[in-house]
Amino acid sequence: MNASETGYRDWSNLTNLLDLPPQQWPMYFKEMLGVPAFHGKNAARWVFRRNAYSWQDMTDLPAQLRERLSEKMPLLTSTLVKVSHADDGACKILLRHSDDALVEAVGMPGTKGRTLCVSTQVGCAVKCVFCASGLDGVQRNLSAGEILQQVLWLRREQGDFHRLVVMGMGEPGHNLDATLQALDCLMHEEGFQFAARRITLSTVAPRGTLPQLAEWGRQISVAISLHAAVDEVRHELVPGVAKRTLLDTLQEADQLFFATGREYTVEYVLLRDRNDQPEHAKELAKLLQDRRCHVNLIPYNPVPELPFERPSSETMDEFVHTLHDAGLSVTLRTSLGGNQDAACGQLRRRTTSPPSGSEVV
Ligand code: SF4
Repeated sequence: MNASETGYRDWSNLTNLLDLPPQQWPMYFKEMLGVPAFHGKNAARWVFRRNAYSWQDMTDLPAQLRERLSEKMPLLTSTLVKVSHADDGACKILLRHSDDALVEAVGMPGTKGRTLCVSTQVGCAVKCVFCASGLDGVQRNLSAGEILQQVLWLRREQGDFHRLVVMGMGEPGHNLDATLQALDCLMHEEGFQFAARRITLSTVAPRGTLPQLAEWGRQISVAISLHAAVDEVRHELVPGVAKRTLLDTLQEADQLFFATGREYTVEYVLLRDRNDQPEHAKELAKLLQDRRCHVNLIPYNPVPELPFERPSSETMDEFVHTLHDAGLSVTLRTSLGGNQDAACGQLRRRTTSPPSGSEVV
């Protein structure tokens, strides 16, 4: 059994109730706080369904209980240190945890409502060469509650949301139990009651990740970040999977499709002159032929410290046409948040090493 099935076992060590699955809140209230279990159910409804952000907001909980909870374990253990708005409506927030770990999350406008993008780790060990999040390696994993706090802060800033993507800082496959526990809370009837099909998890698919997702079996969408169609190039661009072959990865992806019946997405960041040429498109088309997948091409979002550029529109269009002509389903993503630290990890880096004090508000 993994943590997403069991939640917390040792309640005496619990410091953030969001780390406990919502269905266990009633039992926690009864056994650890000595109050009727229904107060726990009520509190979970306040947090996940009624937009409460502190125990004091829960006006029908006994005042003494609210006081005790406020002293014992604040609902939100992170503080909001920066909100960054882009002209296109994207909003990036930066949270600071008690150990000073900084975490980013983003809300983006969409045709049916906002999409939230959350992080699963502080930093990232995969070290994709084009990504700001991986520049300093990984600091630590986020707990399920810390992942959920990003959702709560973004909802507080921007209101309800329509989709959620796990595509922020970190590799979910390196912190899968906590990530799946957070997603279970999103979907659970005692949690956010969010539809599985509105959730996308993006991963480079470290060994074991896709089989665990297949076993978990929820109907979420899975996006597999390939970024290359031959192993040599992928290992160069995504050093964290240097021991994995593309064939192994895609065979596991095909197994995931057979287990869940859900087609997967292949993500491919287009980098000028590195993986955007006609031969790269042909290699990708050959690799994905007859697989049950959709290809999402992502124009590179430049990072000041890194030597990569976005390809020209003509090059990207040609890439799309090559895949399309080969019979693949393909889209070219529109990047949002272009003028405000939009690329993954940029806001955190600029706040970690700012021109002294200039970024934190
Ligand atoms: S792109 Fe994703 S997996 Fe790669 S370093 Fe950045 S956060 Fe990690």
